[in-house]
Amino acid sequence: MRYPQTFIDDLKRQADIVRVIQDYVQLKKKGANWMACCPFHKEKTPSFSVSPVKEIFYCFGCHKGGSVFNFVMEMERVSFPEAIKLVAEKSGVPLPIMVDDSRFQARRLESEEVIELNKWALDWWEQQLESSSEGIIARDYLKGREITEETRKAFRLGYAPDSWDALSTHLRQKGASQEQIDRSGLVARKEEGRSYDRFRGRLIFPVMDIQGKPIAFGGRTLKDEDAKYINSPETAAYVKGRNLFGLNLTRDEIRRNGFVILVEGFLDLIVPYQFGIRNVAASLGTALTPDQVKLLGRFARKVVVNYDGDQAGVQAAKKAIEILLAEDLEVKILVLPDGTDPDEFLRKSGASDYHRRRGEAQSYIQFVIDQAVQGRKLSNPADKEAAIDEVLPYIRAVRSRLQKREYFDIAMDSLRINDVTLKRELWHSIRAGIGERARVGQSGKQAQVKPTVAEQKLLEMLLTDRELRQTVLPKLEPGDYDELPTAVIFRALVDGEREGAAIDFDFLTRKTEGNPISELLPSLLMAEPQGQENDQSEGRHLDAQRCIDALRLMNVDRRISDLRSEIAVAERNGETERRDRLSTEQVELTRRRDGLLPRAEAMQIGQ
Ligand SMILES: [Zn+2]
Repeated sequence: MRYPQTFIDDLKRQADIVRVIQDYVQLKKKGANWMACCPFHKEKTPSFSVSPVKEIFYCFGCHKGGSVFNFVMEMERVSFPEAIKLVAEKSGVPLPIMVDDSRFQARRLESEEVIELNKWALDWWEQQLESSSEGIIARDYLKGREITEETRKAFRLGYAPDSWDALSTHLRQKGASQEQIDRSGLVARKEEGRSYDRFRGRLIFPVMDIQGKPIAFGGRTLKDEDAKYINSPETAAYVKGRNLFGLNLTRDEIRRNGFVILVEGFLDLIVPYQFGIRNVAASLGTALTPDQVKLLGRFARKVVVNYDGDQAGVQAAKKAIEILLAEDLEVKILVLPDGTDPDEFLRKSGASDYHRRRGEAQSYIQFVIDQAVQGRKLSNPADKEAAIDEVLPYIRAVRSRLQKREYFDIAMDSLRINDVTLKRELWHSIRAGIGERARVGQSGKQAQVKPTVAEQKLLEMLLTDRELRQTVLPKLEPGDYDELPTAVIFRALVDGEREGAAIDFDFLTRKTEGNPISELLPSLLMAEPQGQENDQSEGRHLDAQRCIDALRLMNVDRRISDLRSEIAVAERNGETERRDRLSTEQVELTRRRDGLLPRAEAMQIGQ
């Protein structure tokens, strides 16, 4: 499944990177660029910049950067095709039909249809809550819960009137067919085939997807029915356990904070949100699923689980821990006093008390141990064994071997297990796992190559100065850069210059594809070499020459040091002829080095 390349190229030309990014962060014009506080890391002074001319963004703080597509991918946490789709939508460019199978296409059309009907229903329910006379029951309920107008609007709460067919009638009037209404899940079917409105006399909580489209609903009874909450069934637009309530509104705050508070119910998210605690997501009452955790993991790797303090809440928290650990997230547990949930606690005690308790949240292992020890006597062998059995699976689930050992030791201490043989046995029983593989994968991703000062400065100058490229590149020899981590960029520049290609982000990205060094491109392109504007071109050439000399000096130094050991080997083996040849080379190189040294000195100081 992919879009034609010609379309992507067209879109790139038409999409205005400033306008697209403006949708997410408030940009201010500064010189040729636009600046803002970075949406990807926490900061007070803006270091995030967008260049409409270069068609890239770059953060001088956290070094994220790239094209408009990279920005949307990072911000929305979507794949490249998804980013293309979003940029096209934002830029008003019609999408061509992707090459894909017809079943997928049909499902997508059906999903869009369900969302369309959901939108109609939600608009109508919102109106009912705002102004219908019957809606007063819902307005009173919200007042009782101290939910403000502003919060109600942010979450688009609604009221479904107590009627068997008011919504269906409204949808038919808007032009929906009976089949469409049946497929939407907004109605339920009786056995004899007749259908009726699913949500009646209920406060409506819309569940949005990550882009803010209503995909399903939860309804809370306002009439004291047995079913306190009912939810939409699965439809073409909604698969249970794939979404988190509120994430469309809270994801940016989650990313900024670097952690998420995971709660259970609608109000457990809405109330903290109203109190200004906005790095929260709700698992929607159902047991947390691996899909939900994967979604969450796109925005933060640390999770504070804050479920209800009652027995059911504790059990749900324990299940959640296992799923979170399996996805390698860092987990803490917050249990509020007296079995309260976040909604109750905040309205009673306020935000600062909540923040304090959140800061003191337990490591999950301590929570699990506490739960295992509760009501058991560790002096009783049977009780002790039961406690061990309860705790060990949670340690086994930890992926990092180092952390696994640490938690194991904590558990052994807490459960008062001192017998060395038993300890060793238990450790063996949990050690088998996938920890090693996970760790290797992680460190590989973080590996970063750091160019030298001379290399970086030379590239910055060459990338931003066309004239310099024309005069300097022909002087470079492949040997000057072949062994540098940035060799692929130098080669791209030389090739590009020879072919007469436009040296821009796109061109360079293509040429460095698959090479980790390509991550450096935005920073190199955004750099403004010192004094570039007022310097005479002569001065810039001199600067470039100094960098080249510094690179050559490094090469010579490396070769001299190699020669030294080669000469020692030749000496030991009695190869006098070889030794003399190498020595001659060494002398020549040392002379060359002396010539380069003064010219490259300026660069060395820079290091
Ligand atoms: Zn940043």
